[in-house]
Amino acid sequence: MNEGLPEGVSRSLFADDVALLADARTPEECDAHLQPCLDSIGAWLTRWKVTPSVSKCTSTLFSLDPKQQRGRVRPNLKLHGQEITATEHPTFLGIKFDPQLTFAEHVSDLKAKMARRRRCLQAMAGKTWGSHRRTLRTAYIGYVRALFDYGAAVVGTHAAPSVRERLEAEQNKCARLITGCIRLTRTDALLAEADLPPLSLRAKQLAGQECQRLARLPALDPARTLLEKEVRPRLEYRAHLAWRRDCTQAEAARRPPPKPPDEDAVLTKKPCLRRQLQRGPAGQVTALAADIWECLHTLSERGTTVTFQWVPGHAGLDGNEHADQLAGEAAAAEQPDVQIDFASARSAIGRRVGTMVDARTRASHPHPAPTPGHNDLSRWEACTLSQLRTGASPLTRDVAHRLGLAVDAACPACGEPDSAAHLLTDCPAYEAARRRRWGLNPSLGDVLGGPAPLVIEFIRAVGRTDPPVDPPAPSSP
Ligand SMILES: [Zn+2]
Repeated sequence: MNEGLPEGVSRSLFADDVALLADARTPEECDAHLQPCLDSIGAWLTRWKVTPSVSKCTSTLFSLDPKQQRGRVRPNLKLHGQEITATEHPTFLGIKFDPQLTFAEHVSDLKAKMARRRRCLQAMAGKTWGSHRRTLRTAYIGYVRALFDYGAAVVGTHAAPSVRERLEAEQNKCARLITGCIRLTRTDALLAEADLPPLSLRAKQLAGQECQRLARLPALDPARTLLEKEVRPRLEYRAHLAWRRDCTQAEAARRPPPKPPDEDAVLTKKPCLRRQLQRGPAGQVTALAADIWECLHTLSERGTTVTFQWVPGHAGLDGNEHADQLAGEAAAAEQPDVQIDFASARSAIGRRVGTMVDARTRASHPHPAPTPGHNDLSRWEACTLSQLRTGASPLTRDVAHRLGLAVDAACPACGEPDSAAHLLTDCPAYEAARRRRWGLNPSLGDVLGGPAPLVIEFIRAVGRTDPPVDPPAPSSP
């Protein structure tokens, strides 16, 4: 099928799903590119006596120009003499597209599907009965998150953050089902407790793996060609476009090319290092820049001041000449270009995402390390421990007060402000029960560091197994 495709037209073919894609400045140009292709497909079908079902074919215009959106401009294409229906939301290989590639429609459908499957998790456990959290987590990953994983490398990394947020909300609901945590629990702590990465990072991990897989395909594979293709920035940078026009004119007139307007607008593959570094340690996207930041950090910790100085050339500068000579020698040496194997690349991506997850979610968990024996507790015990671990337990008055079930947040035993940490480590009224289990003045780390049954025993011994709610105020007549 690749043979005979004109310039500017590419194709995507998987089993019996075919898509023809044309890329041009105007919709009319796209039509002009695509129609001859459709004509030759029509001729091929006639030759092989195949009747196409034109009613099942659709055409879509992808454009960021508001004048061309919402069906204002439709492609005008024909197959076998019949007009191809234009649609705004075509589905191709299970992904629903939209003219601006925001994936909002696809995400809405996906969220609805995830919500339907979440009900199965709901049927498996409540806060006092049902499956263990390990079983629920496995069921979530295999049955609910699997829906997200399909196409996540593209959808999860390209959809707008506000669109992705809707899916994150769906995962958070599932994490609450798995752990038994309540709605007041902080999202990051909740995900750390359920041992799940945020979906945005999961999408990054899948995209990284997919990229590594495609890079290892044979050189002429269409998917690899697509990966290595130079893509134009999606948004039009006027300064960039004007500069490109000036460059073409200068080339035609044999003048030296004009200066680029700004490194950011040009979006070159190698952005200015100084600008790149200015984005700070968290804003780095390449390993080299991240390493440089790490070195800078180490130097500044030792009290060394680092000044960046742009050196226009190495001529006449002591040391620089020597460095240049060494660099030249190194560059002339044999450069073995060995690619790491896919399994190593995959685990490297996994490790990198793992550290990102730790920085995002575990940092906000009061006690991120798991409590030994947590998975062996009964459902009510496991949920209660998770609630205490994340610091949002309905067994303490601060949470009952926030839920509107208690008039104040004072501890029922001592009158101090109540909290999970107060109950487990500080409340003087429970000192004896606490000392018997963990010794004198245990820290939260000592208590939640295990074993898990001790915490539950303690809660039972001090009689705090029920939410300390106040009776509702009598309604005035
Ligand atoms: Zn107290």
